[in-house]
Amino acid sequence: MSSVDTTIQLIRTGAIPGTVCSPDLADGPWVFDRQPEPSYGPGSSMGDIIPVGSPRQGQLPAEYRTASNNELAARIHAAKQTLGDRVVVLGHFYQRDEVVQFADFIGDSFQLANAARSTPAAEAIVFCGVHFMAETADILAGPHQSVIPPNLAAGCSMADMADIDSVEECWEQLAELYGTQPDADGRAPIIPVTYMNSSAALKGFCGDHGGIVCTSSNASTVLEWAFERGQRVLFFPDQHLGRNTAKAMGVPLTRMPMWNPRKPLGGNSRAELADARVILWHGFCSVHKRFSVGQIEKARAEFPGVTVLVHPECPMEVVDAADAAGSTDFIGKAIAAASEPTTFAIGTEINMVNRLATQHPQHTIFSLDPVVCPCSTMYRIHPGYLAWVLEALVRGEVLNQITVPERVAAPARIALERMLAAKPGAPVVPADVIGD
Ligand code: SF4
Repeated sequence: MSSVDTTIQLIRTGAIPGTVCSPDLADGPWVFDRQPEPSYGPGSSMGDIIPVGSPRQGQLPAEYRTASNNELAARIHAAKQTLGDRVVVLGHFYQRDEVVQFADFIGDSFQLANAARSTPAAEAIVFCGVHFMAETADILAGPHQSVIPPNLAAGCSMADMADIDSVEECWEQLAELYGTQPDADGRAPIIPVTYMNSSAALKGFCGDHGGIVCTSSNASTVLEWAFERGQRVLFFPDQHLGRNTAKAMGVPLTRMPMWNPRKPLGGNSRAELADARVILWHGFCSVHKRFSVGQIEKARAEFPGVTVLVHPECPMEVVDAADAAGSTDFIGKAIAAASEPTTFAIGTEINMVNRLATQHPQHTIFSLDPVVCPCSTMYRIHPGYLAWVLEALVRGEVLNQITVPERVAAPARIALERMLAAKPGAPVVPADVIGD
């Protein structure tokens, strides 16, 4: 099966039929680095507005923009050989194959942060993921290690939907409403819980306010932890992960008001907030928001007996209509565990779906979404950027280093450590187990 990038190029030239969510995806990401207004890149939803002050990527030198994929692959390989154990390359499941093929570890954001921590010999951690992941790796990595995202413009629109100023403002309003004193059982009025997909500042906020971080694989364990210590939870930034997890734990939808940061009291009445068990931030992932119940119905009609697996960042109706919902790790393991040839329709990012289809040719695996639409921010990392940062390391230059100030990193580490204590993370997955 061709890579997502190759498919996009073939659709552009008309060599194969198909639809891409933006024809501009076929251009190199450097075209978007040059635009006067920063953007998440082609394919992101119109509702995703990039925050002022987001990191900007400088112009990638021409030699990396014009080199062929074969030339870049040879240069990346040579640079990695020269650097040896001094560098570790991490690749997220949603990253394009042309980059992931050079990753020493492939995984989700938490597995990759653990991989960063488990490779102390590496002076440089080249993180082929998005900005918040590189921040988390820097928080957990040793002081002698530099964390380097190949393209600084690879952010995450969902993570950006909750900024520290809006969360602090929300917290003040909630403190005024609920007070700050614990109840007779010693439970705090409210506990903040942030999804891993959030800035270091928000993880630090949770560390400072008795809160915790969660991932899509341990969200229910973390919510249990929070309910033991608090009367209610403020969950950000992803409303869908919060709603899907709390609903599965038996929290009624009527006790899950949504907080819109642009409205007083988040757009809720005092009575609604008084009765709340989980307050959901108004955030979402534009990739997972594309999946619909209609797509699931179509898959079931065309492939009777199909198994539908979706990520919990999908809307609640989609999760309810699927056979199962879980993290990227869960989806990969569910497919690997199927002993008989099975048809799977998957609701998560297309690079991962494509890779699973290649790794498991005995199964029929396809994306629920017929439109080819990768995560636009992950897509900002192209082999040209990877070659650029690696060859700089060979010359002794560290480009694009992410540094989280210690005043933020220290409380963020506390919130991450609370999560680790609540439930140890999934094991790091070496690249040779995952495949290409
Ligand atoms: S898939 Fe969604 S949540 Fe994940 S990095 Fe892309 S925009 Fe962010």
